[in-house]
Amino acid sequence: MKDLIVASHNRGKIEEIGEMLGHLGIKVIGVSDYISMDEVEENAPTLEGNAKIKAEFIYEKVKKATLADDTGLFVRALNNEPGVRTARYAGKNPTERDNRVKMLKEMEGKEDRFAFFETVLYLIDENGKGYSVSGICEGDISTEEMGTKGFGYDSIFIPKGEQKTFGQLSMEEKNKYSHRAKVLNKLNELLVRILDEDRNSK
Ligand code: IMP
Repeated sequence: MKDLIVASHNRGKIEEIGEMLGHLGIKVIGVSDYISMDEVEENAPTLEGNAKIKAEFIYEKVKKATLADDTGLFVRALNNEPGVRTARYAGKNPTERDNRVKMLKEMEGKEDRFAFFETVLYLIDENGKGYSVSGICEGDISTEEMGTKGFGYDSIFIPKGEQKTFGQLSMEEKNKYSHRAKVLNKLNELLVRILDEDRNSK
């Protein structure tokens, strides 16, 4: 596996994955260098299903190793909502602030604040074989916004073992807990295994 096409238009994500996998000799390339993802409908009931839809869409077009992700925030007091709808929680094209405001409103007066983030990565190798890995970060929804760092729901999510929200933590501190850091470590292990198997089968 020499190239890995990542199903994202987010430069930050692509660079982060590229840095992590550089030592394996894999070149990480953003999908926008190839095709548009606009027509892809993420309508599966699970994170893995959505990540798979995106990875398969690209694999069918480029027949190269492909990686896609999907992240959700699952809140126990809200019957595990918004889950797969986390990005669209406050409507069709909400701002990240709209989503946070809606979450704090729905959580008003709730004693149980438990929630977790989950990121699923779906990898398709050059031969079309699929693999999925997942990373979870447990914590609580705060009662108000705290901090201005990060993005999305960071300023209202307190990871387990901390008093501060992700929005008050540095990137380095966030990475000690974050679902994304965990899943990227697992991806790394998975790729080391796949590359080893590749070498042994030659
Ligand atoms: P996506 O799958 O990366 O598009 O993320 C889905 C939703 O989860 C979006 O609303 C993101 O803002 C939110 N999200 C993903 N990762 C994080 C995170 O690490 N902190 C806060 N919000 C996140």
